[in-house]
Amino acid sequence: MNAQQSPDATPHTGVPRLTITQDNEFFFAAAREGRLEIQRCTECETLRHPPSPSCPHCRSMKWDTVESARRCTLHSYTVLHHPKDPAFDYPLAVGLVDLEEGTRLVADIAGIDHADLEFGMELEVGFAEHAHGEVLPQLRRRGDGEPR
Ligand SMILES: [Zn+2]
Repeated sequence: MNAQQSPDATPHTGVPRLTITQDNEFFFAAAREGRLEIQRCTECETLRHPPSPSCPHCRSMKWDTVESARRCTLHSYTVLHHPKDPAFDYPLAVGLVDLEEGTRLVADIAGIDHADLEFGMELEVGFAEHAHGEVLPQLRRRGDGEPR
């Protein structure tokens, strides 16, 4: 056994481990249960993602979360070819989506031919296991089976 061998499922990945804080723990805990939770300011009800300590609109530190229906449309995307990391398959499509609830999310896109990607197309947020076993959002064609 190589003493340098990583215990990760994907050795030699350059993908950093998640940094879990008191402000984003809810998001990753919900993802592990197949739910997309979005942070909401309880003063002005503005949604925000990624999670942060204070509201960018009114500066309030008070927040709760709402569960997203996971329906979204593709706002923009890119297809990565380099640099390659063993944690992903290339070419790798990454999308920025507008969630129906009114905020945005970035995630990789799975199961769609890159030539078929179009701005405004309807997608849904599912979940998939990533480099270190963490469960993160993944974009899929809407109706491609229930995310777990
Ligand atoms: Zn606010």
